[in-house]
Amino acid sequence: MYPSRFRYEAPRSLGEAIDLLRMGGDYAKVLAGGQSLVPLMKLRFASPELIVDINNVPGLDYHRADPDGTLRIGALCRHADLERSALLAGTQPTMAAAAPLIADPIVRNRGTLVGSLCHADPQGDWASVVLALGGSVVAQGPAGRRTIPVADFVTGPFQNLLAPDEIAIEAVIPAARGARSGGYLKLERRVGDFATAGVAIALETSGDLVTRAGIALTGVGGSTIGATEAAASLVGKPLTARAIEEAADLTAAVARPRTDHRGSAEFKRHIVRTFVVRILSRADAAEERAA
Ligand SMILES: Cc1cc2nc3c(=O)[nH]c(=O)nc-3n(C[C@H](O)[C@H](O)[C@H](O)COP(=O)(O)OP(=O)(O)OC[C@H]3O[C@@H](n4cnc5c(N)ncnc54)[C@H](O)[C@@H]3O)c2cc1C
Repeated sequence: MYPSRFRYEAPRSLGEAIDLLRMGGDYAKVLAGGQSLVPLMKLRFASPELIVDINNVPGLDYHRADPDGTLRIGALCRHADLERSALLAGTQPTMAAAAPLIADPIVRNRGTLVGSLCHADPQGDWASVVLALGGSVVAQGPAGRRTIPVADFVTGPFQNLLAPDEIAIEAVIPAARGARSGGYLKLERRVGDFATAGVAIALETSGDLVTRAGIALTGVGGSTIGATEAAASLVGKPLTARAIEEAADLTAAVARPRTDHRGSAEFKRHIVRTFVVRILSRADAAEERAA
């Protein structure tokens, strides 16, 4: 199917883009990688009257670490940039594990992490990863900038907190205070598919104690799920087999999978539990190697 008719604008500055969005109101949409928006328009699930393509806005294609270790990912940083990133490979195990699992190479060349957060698909991988890491989104609109924790940014399936005239300009991952470990595991029916179930875990440790933990789930509920109780159960303790089993049980308990063409609810919950044990056991082994 062809999309409905729309006006297309490609502004050359953020200010111009925000002015266009203000004029377009509820009928305007930002276009970043286009890997979610364009398919939705072709299916006519979305029929914006104005497309504001931000790809000509300079200075949004970065990902970089501040001197204190805070990671910033610009709105035009592509999934492929993160997949090939030496910075992520060395400092962000959860993100580095997730990047090659997003879609397929063609989608990864255009799609963006920030666009994925804005799209707020319950099966989007980045939302779980950024939630587990305690990240946030920086939005810019006519009134200036505001920083929104991802836990609040995604308000439901395909819904976010942005006002119609705001642009998400970057995602921010706070600096780790301890040694970082963790990972992302995703079960997919074939390479390039959305998750049947996915688990993101981000840990910080000091000595053999976990000092911070984040756990979040992809594709097993109506939105990205933060397993906060499971994460809290790990903090202040070493990663013993018992602590890992307890966190796995608590995580599986908050999954809300539905039986569908990807598998039964029971199977998906089992996968969630198994992935938690697997990621935490690897983190434990890595710490032992480092000690
Ligand atoms: C075949 C296929 C397979 C895929 N598989 C996966 C997968 O396995 N895992 C996964 O996580 N994703 C998958 N995706 C989605 C892909 O990752 C998209 O790139 C991502 O969801 C959206 O990023 P984008 O830059 O393409 O956003 P766009 O498509 O440009 O935009 C998506 C939405 O976000 C809004 N938006 C985008 N950027 C901004 C911004 N800076 N400020 C305000 N609003 C903004 C748009 O207005 C639109 O509503 C797949 C897509 C395809 C086509």
